[in-house]
Amino acid sequence: MCGIIAYVGPRQAYPVLIKGLHRLEYRGYDSAGICLMNKNLNIYKCKGKVSDLEKHVKGEDIGGTLGMAHTRWATHGEPNEVNAHPHFSQDKSLAVIHNGIIENYATLRSELKNRGYKFVSDTDTEVLAHLIYDILKHEKVKLEEAVRIALNHVIGAYAIVVLSKDNPDKIVAARKGSPMVIGVGEDEYFVASDATPIIEYTNNVIFMNDEEIAVIERDRPIQIRTVRNQKKTPYVQKMEMSLTAIEKGGFDHFMLKEIYEQPRSLRDSMRGRLLVNQGVINLGGIKEYEQKLLNAKRIIITACGTSWHAGLVGEYLIEDLARIPVEVEYSSEFRYRNPILYEDDIIIAISQSGETADTLAAIELAKSKGATVLGICNVVGSSIARATHAGVYTHAGPEIGVASTKAFTAQVAILTMMALKIAGSKGTIPRSKFQRYLTELEAIPDKVEKILTLDDQIKEIAEIYKDVKNSIYLGRGYNLPVAYEGALKLKEISYIHAEGYPAAEMKHGPIALIDEQMPVVVIATKNGTYDKVISNIMEVKARHGKIIAVVTEGDEQVRALADHCIEIPETEDFLVPLIATVPLQLLSYHIAVMRHCNVDQPRNLAKSVTVE
Ligand code: GLU
Repeated sequence: MCGIIAYVGPRQAYPVLIKGLHRLEYRGYDSAGICLMNKNLNIYKCKGKVSDLEKHVKGEDIGGTLGMAHTRWATHGEPNEVNAHPHFSQDKSLAVIHNGIIENYATLRSELKNRGYKFVSDTDTEVLAHLIYDILKHEKVKLEEAVRIALNHVIGAYAIVVLSKDNPDKIVAARKGSPMVIGVGEDEYFVASDATPIIEYTNNVIFMNDEEIAVIERDRPIQIRTVRNQKKTPYVQKMEMSLTAIEKGGFDHFMLKEIYEQPRSLRDSMRGRLLVNQGVINLGGIKEYEQKLLNAKRIIITACGTSWHAGLVGEYLIEDLARIPVEVEYSSEFRYRNPILYEDDIIIAISQSGETADTLAAIELAKSKGATVLGICNVVGSSIARATHAGVYTHAGPEIGVASTKAFTAQVAILTMMALKIAGSKGTIPRSKFQRYLTELEAIPDKVEKILTLDDQIKEIAEIYKDVKNSIYLGRGYNLPVAYEGALKLKEISYIHAEGYPAAEMKHGPIALIDEQMPVVVIATKNGTYDKVISNIMEVKARHGKIIAVVTEGDEQVRALADHCIEIPETEDFLVPLIATVPLQLLSYHIAVMRHCNVDQPRNLAKSVTVE
């Protein structure tokens, strides 16, 4: 997490940097800070958001055509002004911004303290400023060489930008584990955590690789070396991302815009891949690994958060349709619990940002054991996209709202296509059914469109329950991950405690929580366990809980029991997660707005979790 941006060129840096910080703010919003080169390094920083920083610098000298800025998601040290980045060296000749965690910071800090350096913040980052300064002073090397030597002493993850008063035209940037993109304009350069602050100026970008250090100097070509001092040739790529994709486009919040984008994002995720007329699914990105997938004895899906929920849908899909055993693992657990991995295992790693630190580590672990790793990510060129053997992009478009919505449904769409593809090739579903399933999948975006017209009805339900303290979400089978995801969405943006539970498990504990205040959201679509779910609804009713049910259009039985019914179009059972999630996203959204919560930037959270 944390957003980083830097600029050098003919423009005034301040407006470029502030605009960039706004675009990167989804990555963290505990504090914001800026450093402008203007004879001296002028640093301004404050607790809070980028807009607070803008107020904070009123009347200050914000001139300069080279600078850097940071928006923080605190890991080490409280979110306050002192801990805000940039961090100065003691003599203020050098400044650093950082995204990541320096794991051996305590050792470095005490060594530097013994050498007389005074620390002003509680961050891990500040050690970098003193360490680089110390090397510069004693070894009399160039700035980039000092950075390189310093990084050889560092354990952990970082994307850093370093500025030095004595190098007024130079930016030094380095990365390991945290993302970093360089924008290459005609006579200017940009450095950022992702491409969103860059694309309005240029489409030409360089994705930095791990352990690379870039020297970005005014009017000079970029130079890249590794931490081990090997020269690299910068590889400039064309980035395809439009400005409208990263703006709110008339919606009050990015989250709402992204919920409403789902018919489009789902179509995009299937375009050129789901070829109904030809009866084919084409997943170009993993073509080379198709045979391996077909022969796989086991698939392990690894992910975190919402992507983990998509993975759970994936398990149900692949086992049900393609008859391959699947395990779904939290990346953070998987990576540390010495899992048993075989060379013929296929690992599917899912991450919206493609930067999730735990998932990246899980990928490396799986690769080290000889397994094949496929990725499903949204951000093109991201670390996971590059670390995996092959993969499929979700093509959901940039997701800015911290709570994931369209990325989730796009991930599920990809997993659905994967499962169908394997099932079709292995013959685990008959040809006639296969063709019908493809047609049904193609119809999903239209069904989502229809669900979006229920927005006002969902808003009315939100109004009734906006002040509750607790809630339960229940589902069975394919609807269980939907319940998990619905509950996560509510708690992360509205701060209402919400639990997702397998409907039948309720009686083993959570039923004790039910009273007349408790809303219970049940996904009760018509499927094989419909009658069982009705029994679970009865159990809630008997204890005076309130039922909000997501049902299949035309349902009468649940309607007679529930306090509120949200009707969704009929579809195949295995496709229900793609549509049943949408009304729950809207419910959470409206409740959060009514509670005056910051929907796009919920407290304590940030997107793109680049720390463990
Ligand atoms: N560890 C740094 C800090 O706490 C950076 C945090 C991050 O990148 O999330 O300030």
